[in-house]
Amino acid sequence: MDYPGNLFVVAAPSGAGKSSLCKALLELDSRLQPSVSHTTRPPRGQEKHGREYFFVSQQEFDAMVAADAFVEWAHVHANRYGTSKKAIEDRMAMGADVILEIDFQGAVQIKNVFANAICIFILPPSWEELRSRLERRGEDSPEIIDMRMKNAQVEVAQVAKFDFVIINELFDRALFDLKAIVHSQRLKISAQRRARAETFQALNIL
Ligand code: 5GP
Repeated sequence: MDYPGNLFVVAAPSGAGKSSLCKALLELDSRLQPSVSHTTRPPRGQEKHGREYFFVSQQEFDAMVAADAFVEWAHVHANRYGTSKKAIEDRMAMGADVILEIDFQGAVQIKNVFANAICIFILPPSWEELRSRLERRGEDSPEIIDMRMKNAQVEVAQVAKFDFVIINELFDRALFDLKAIVHSQRLKISAQRRARAETFQALNIL
């Protein structure tokens, strides 16, 4: 499928800083839009249906899987999460660039549907730092932190399947790296051809 917009997919182990980086990027870059996923997990804190996620029942999720409504979906930490085709195709068809913040299994599936998707993996600088970030976050029990650390080993082993890797040691540096990836992608000939088809035509460039 070929759309004028670009699709960026960001994955990382829990605690590597993916959400904070994507949030900061979205605040700085008005051409970029988030995709709202569907999940079977219940809302947390101030989360609102349709803003952070579409919160759906197991039956509703099953029905969407049966209707082939997802570009990708995966089991993550005992819940199901999926990116609906509609969530990204509508935005990309209008020329917007879309950013997906999903787990590594979903990122790998996305490439099968959107061959032009840019997959970015965020790594922590070390295992010690990842553990201390999870501890400082104060959201999880020691058992859950151990589980997240174990999952992280499996996740980082997939890094070679991604196009880019950012090591999130210093937040500002990692954000700079993320901006650079997005910007350089927009300047690629294939992306410019899609986004600026009329200019290419006017210049008689095939
Ligand atoms: P949380 O429940 O903490 O919001 O998210 C848990 C994990 O699920 C995170 O790694 C998040 O990026 C991932 N996730 C969120 N939406 C999707 C999605 O649509 N597909 C996949 N595969 N993972 C998702």
